[in-house]
Amino acid sequence: MSYVQDVLETMRQRNQRQPEFMQAAQIVLESLEPVFDVHPEYQEASILERLTEAERTIIFRVPWVDDSGKIHVNRGYRIQFSSVLGPYKGGLRFHPTVNLSIMKFLAFEQTFKNSLTGLPMGGAKGGSDFDPKGKSDSEVMRFCQSFMTELQRHIGPDTDVPAGDIGVGGREIGYLFGQYRRIRNHFTGALTGKGLNWGGSLVRPEATGFGAVYFAQEMLHGVGDTIEDKVCTVSGSGNVAQYTVQKLNDLGAKAVTLSDSSGYIHDPEGISPEKLQWVMELKNVKRGRIEEYAQEFGVTYYPGERPWKVPCQVAFPCATQNEVELEDAKTLIANGCLAVAEGANMPTVPEAIDAFIKATVLFGPGKAANAGGVATSGLEMSQNAMRLKWTFEEVDRRLHRIMHDIYRATAEAAQRYHEAGNFEVGANIAGFLKVADSMLDQGVV
Ligand code: GLU
Repeated sequence: MSYVQDVLETMRQRNQRQPEFMQAAQIVLESLEPVFDVHPEYQEASILERLTEAERTIIFRVPWVDDSGKIHVNRGYRIQFSSVLGPYKGGLRFHPTVNLSIMKFLAFEQTFKNSLTGLPMGGAKGGSDFDPKGKSDSEVMRFCQSFMTELQRHIGPDTDVPAGDIGVGGREIGYLFGQYRRIRNHFTGALTGKGLNWGGSLVRPEATGFGAVYFAQEMLHGVGDTIEDKVCTVSGSGNVAQYTVQKLNDLGAKAVTLSDSSGYIHDPEGISPEKLQWVMELKNVKRGRIEEYAQEFGVTYYPGERPWKVPCQVAFPCATQNEVELEDAKTLIANGCLAVAEGANMPTVPEAIDAFIKATVLFGPGKAANAGGVATSGLEMSQNAMRLKWTFEEVDRRLHRIMHDIYRATAEAAQRYHEAGNFEVGANIAGFLKVADSMLDQGVV
């Protein structure tokens, strides 16, 4: 049995009933096969055995009281996966589907993603099975305060720096930061995605969506094409999807879909800047459902479906894991899709990734294509450490540069170790090499 298969077998025994974690691990480890032929020192140092076991897993009780006085208990998590490249770094997800498997897959992916950004950040993820949907602001605040009352003892600007993810945006980061500052009596950059008045960075809200479009642009430029005039499908309607649409509009492309867990809307005319403004108000302030777009603008809403049947040239899955299945990939390919850039984490199932690559669809995996969010969090940390603030143009210029460098590193690793154009394998290898070499440097810890 190969080294990779051997480690995967041990992992299966040890991580039973953790399908998302095993899915993420299998994709990464199998991509690394060609590396071990060239670098036997990694196997000798048991790099994979060490790298697939989180450094620390924290699980805690989060009790809180709702507006009617009823007591609820949620489960909180922080998976500190690897700190070999820098302080643990990664978002917090508040969603009813959150469990240990999902937290571990996200923390594992984050380790390689953060490595690809070229910034000094380790990998982590956290969150809770709390569902912010339908909760009042006061309920969300009390939940965040209770969550942080425990989390604060495990984080800090040089230890672990959480941020947002699904269900955790500006409002939640505000409540979490307030409680952190109160308990620790420290005003530090222990969280990113902060408000602009209290240590946040310009472009952080936009960064994941902008970065995904920059990455798609790089892939298209690589084959002599451009994003201009392309018809694009986008799934999701949260932070990542919103700023993906904004950047597509800026660059002269046309985004025609948005979705949420109940269904999707198709607007063949394109989601114009004015319509996008309306969506932002709907989602970020009123916290409504995307179905309302159909009524407002007279377009069709497809309940219970995802937007992959809509013909497009570029697809941006920006909702959640495993939202593009094999049948969806076949439909996208049959409809002439040229490129897929993952704004979400692991939105494409392994068989669908294989189908895209076989059909020579340019496939930008999440750990490369959506790394702009955490990269800009890294830039927020730098600004906090220097106690200064860069302009919008300065942060955007750095983000653009980082996405360009990620594309280059990914394309080069693909060509060197596997096959040109396989960005899935390229991103896994490029992210891994830096982590593995640093582990060799730092000894058995
Ligand atoms: N949750 C985002 C991600 O998946 C951002 C994490 C961060 O900014 O730390 O990369």
